[in-house]
Amino acid sequence: MAAVSVDISHVRKTFGPTVALDDVSLRAYEGEVHAIIGGNGSGKSTLAKVISGVLIPDGGQVSILGKSATTPHEARDLGISNVFQEVLVADECSILDNIYLGADGLLGSSVSQEERARRASALMAELLGFDIDLSISVGELPLSIKQWITIARAILTDPRVLILDESSAALDFDSTERLFRKMREMKQQGCAILIVTHRIAELVRIADRATVLRDGVTVGTLEKDEITEANILALIAGPERERS
Ligand code: ADP
Ligand code: MG
Repeated sequence: MAAVSVDISHVRKTFGPTVALDDVSLRAYEGEVHAIIGGNGSGKSTLAKVISGVLIPDGGQVSILGKSATTPHEARDLGISNVFQEVLVADECSILDNIYLGADGLLGSSVSQEERARRASALMAELLGFDIDLSISVGELPLSIKQWITIARAILTDPRVLILDESSAALDFDSTERLFRKMREMKQQGCAILIVTHRIAELVRIADRATVLRDGVTVGTLEKDEITEANILALIAGPERERS
């Protein structure tokens, strides 16, 4: 049995009167792709942010590799990388600087500038499927490349837990294939990957398990052989709609 990478129990998070997460529990294991699914506003992005220490829950426990983090910095030190739903890039900076944005402390001073550039350029070529000049500034680039930059930024730190929040939203079919290939490779190395997506066909292909959120409550976790479009839609919709 693989080790538990992310253990969330009875997490609650409110924003003023809005209850974003009411009662969320899930377990993601080393070396699995765990999908988080649910309708718009069901709390998926809030959960991703709670796991990565960006938001502090009002109640419940979040344990990452047996430890808890209360800041994004601590979460990163535990080995968590989060690709946020909002594509966060600095338009005026180069691709290279964007990839290493905020990563300085992680790689340490032992890694030379040349080595950093070499790693980033190899990874971008693998993800994009073609070579790209990392010195160009990000501003004018298409959204898909900006999205790849945020993904590369998260992967380059060799995370133990990778969270992808709708990260294929701007990617076409072939690009998504390359992302999935990379995810399978990281899985093999023991990384737990949590993906948030509303593209059900995609998660049927890639997910090992899937947890469904409805109105901030986890309503079930499907095992690999139960992950079908019909099962997912039924869980998302809930009992009221099944009856009508
Ligand atoms: P999802 O990613 O599943 O679409 P979110 O986690 O983004 O859902 O949002 C869950 C609920 O919390 C929604 O009602 C949303 O409007 C609310 N919410 C999320 N972030 C904030 C915030 N920073 N301030 C106030 N309300 C928020
Ligand atoms: Mg979201």
